[in-house]
Amino acid sequence: MNHIMETYGRLPVSFVSGAGSYLTDTSGKQYLDALSGIAVCGLGHAHPKVSEAIKQQAATLVHTSNLYGIPLQERLAQRLCALSGMDKVFFCNSGAEANEAAIKIGRLYGHNRQINNPTIIVADDSFHGRTMATLSATGNAKVRAGFGPLVSGFIRVPFNDLGAIEHIAENDEEVVAIMVEPVLGEGGIIIPNNNYLAELRQICDKNKWLLILDEVQTGNGRTGTFFAYQQESILPDIVTTAKGLGNGFPIGACIAKGVASEILIPGKHGSTFGGNPLACAAANAVLDTLAEDDLMNRARDLGNHIVSGLKTALSGNNRVVDIRGKGLMIAVEMDTPCPNLVTTALENGILINVARDNVVRLLPPLTLRDDEADHLIAKVAHVVRSLV
Ligand SMILES: *Cc1c(COP(=O)(O)O)cnc(C)c1O
Repeated sequence: MNHIMETYGRLPVSFVSGAGSYLTDTSGKQYLDALSGIAVCGLGHAHPKVSEAIKQQAATLVHTSNLYGIPLQERLAQRLCALSGMDKVFFCNSGAEANEAAIKIGRLYGHNRQINNPTIIVADDSFHGRTMATLSATGNAKVRAGFGPLVSGFIRVPFNDLGAIEHIAENDEEVVAIMVEPVLGEGGIIIPNNNYLAELRQICDKNKWLLILDEVQTGNGRTGTFFAYQQESILPDIVTTAKGLGNGFPIGACIAKGVASEILIPGKHGSTFGGNPLACAAANAVLDTLAEDDLMNRARDLGNHIVSGLKTALSGNNRVVDIRGKGLMIAVEMDTPCPNLVTTALENGILINVARDNVVRLLPPLTLRDDEADHLIAKVAHVVRSLV
């Protein structure tokens, strides 16, 4: 009997080791990992610098709790703020927890302004996590189904629709924040119009709302800048991240600026594990490597190369509706549900994912080599062509 709860539909493969862009299964077969553990292992598997940092720190000091000072956490916070233009960080262990912190800041911000039912605007087709508050915020109805009563105080608008938000601004007095992903990840790599975030920034400024960006998937260099919002020259009030921050070691961060960074005071929030020495050692090593190896520019260039390579390889394929990307968040949208392509890909030695039923989603590591990128293009094109 299998003693693991049936929360996941698992593929019939188990990996025993990884190096760079490749994973090896129990039978010794190798797979090109075009998914990076769902945008987590951005530096590839078992990156030597991160593994070494974890090894050293594990032999020095793993955990003390946030009852005491944690120099590695202070250093990581300082670096994250320098990279993002923000002021203060709350550390936790996952994306959902980072978003929980952001939602709590939004609620307190409202109550501090005497708003009784502080409401947060969220987007259709968004994904913010699986805790009660974050699933209530999530746009995907399947994530919410069966878990009522949900956390109230969220209003949904279509993604990339400024008019819907302006309409709410005119009619609703209790809104305190907008929370969106800069690119919908689980929602199928949906890239909004240029200036969407800048326009949201303006609406938030005009209405004294907080702009909360969920960069759990887009962050840590994946779209070509450390955070995606940096391509629109704006700053949010809060940005959340997790996935790529520890390259596989669990760590999340809720990063805030200005008034939003002063709202959580002693007693209002916490996490036993959040920002412990081991997690921070891993994340500091990730930040070192992103900078030293110029991986953010690499993500942008690789993304452009892969998208144009896929467009060439798949031109004339009448099942392909669109090929798009922002850095290393890449989508091949099909005209029909194609969940079986995941298995076809596995048989062909490449790991991919299908989002929203019909979108082949690629989230390869930022360390992918040029020859591996060309290999990826050829394999994905081959797998996509198998759909008849
Ligand atoms: C994955 C993801 C989350 C949830 O992160 P967990 O670490 O699984 O809790 C939240 N938001 C976005 C945009 C994500 O992609």
